[in-house]
Amino acid sequence: MLVTSKKSISASAIRTRFIGIKSISIRSIVIGLGLCTSAFFVSAEQIQDNAITCEGVSLQILGSGGPELDDGRTSTSYLLWQDDKAKVLVDVGSGSSVQFGESGADFADIDTILLSHLHTDHAADLPSFIKGSYFGSRDTNLTVYGPSGNDVMPSTQAYLDALIGKDGAFKYLSSYTQEGEDDYQVTAHSIVDNAFSTQVNDAISIESMSVYHGPIPALAWKVTIDECVAVFSGDTNDADGTLASFAKLADVLVLHNAIEDMERHSGSAATNLHMTPKQVIQIAKDAEAKRVVLSHIMKRSEAGLDALTEAIAVIAPGRVFAAQDLMNIPLVSDLPNEESR
Ligand SMILES: [Zn+2]
Ligand SMILES: [Zn+2]
Repeated sequence: MLVTSKKSISASAIRTRFIGIKSISIRSIVIGLGLCTSAFFVSAEQIQDNAITCEGVSLQILGSGGPELDDGRTSTSYLLWQDDKAKVLVDVGSGSSVQFGESGADFADIDTILLSHLHTDHAADLPSFIKGSYFGSRDTNLTVYGPSGNDVMPSTQAYLDALIGKDGAFKYLSSYTQEGEDDYQVTAHSIVDNAFSTQVNDAISIESMSVYHGPIPALAWKVTIDECVAVFSGDTNDADGTLASFAKLADVLVLHNAIEDMERHSGSAATNLHMTPKQVIQIAKDAEAKRVVLSHIMKRSEAGLDALTEAIAVIAPGRVFAAQDLMNIPLVSDLPNEESR
């Protein structure tokens, strides 16, 4: 077992739901997009390399939803595990601190927190994690990386200050922002540049790329753990068309599926914020990621989720996952059988 967790949904069990599904309408979508199935496939050599580099690494979905109250999903949050330790937390949407506990993760093991942007469904639980850590054993400093601010949103630094700084809403936690005043110190790093990368420690490096999410400063994240690469689109409509190359050949690519088809939402505010399913399919195809996870599911996109999953399954058999809370996806590859290749 890769990950020791109190609660974890097997990804393979869910994945089988989609294998073998053949839909004429979905195939027509794929054909209509001019997708060449062979272009998506990863060579056996790459899979072999992957089998070595991603051993012991998994992606767990803590929250697979957006901001809706009645979608039955925790808001967006992801956890990267390595060797039974939760190492990187990506986004901390509403409810994610509860799911963190459910996963069996230990906050003392977290090496860094990455925020895609500061909408509540991605950032609201940050103070809950800090307060919750009081009851744990963390004694190493923590850096939270996220976007810089603009007229609409605070920077990540300003956000942290507004929450747990000396004049913050939860100033009773401000000892965590002052050097030497508590068991560890939380600092924020607001990323100003369009492209940013740094080494978190010997095993983990991170890279961000600015993405378009309407007026909201937003980042896509790439996390490399011992050469195993996970990419997170965050919320974006990929207006610059840069996501696929950013995620090229990633071991896992998490794409947000917040809206349904182009026709119904064409010209709406939603398409200024989010990718359409057609874009998601095209990015999945162009990126050639070894696994694709569809997440940030909202009620309006839930209806088309099976169809989208099936569409991507045509070009990536057995390697597409419709996210569910607590789903845990090992990134080490079992060699695909001949039919699925
Ligand atoms: Zn969102
Ligand atoms: Zn958002």
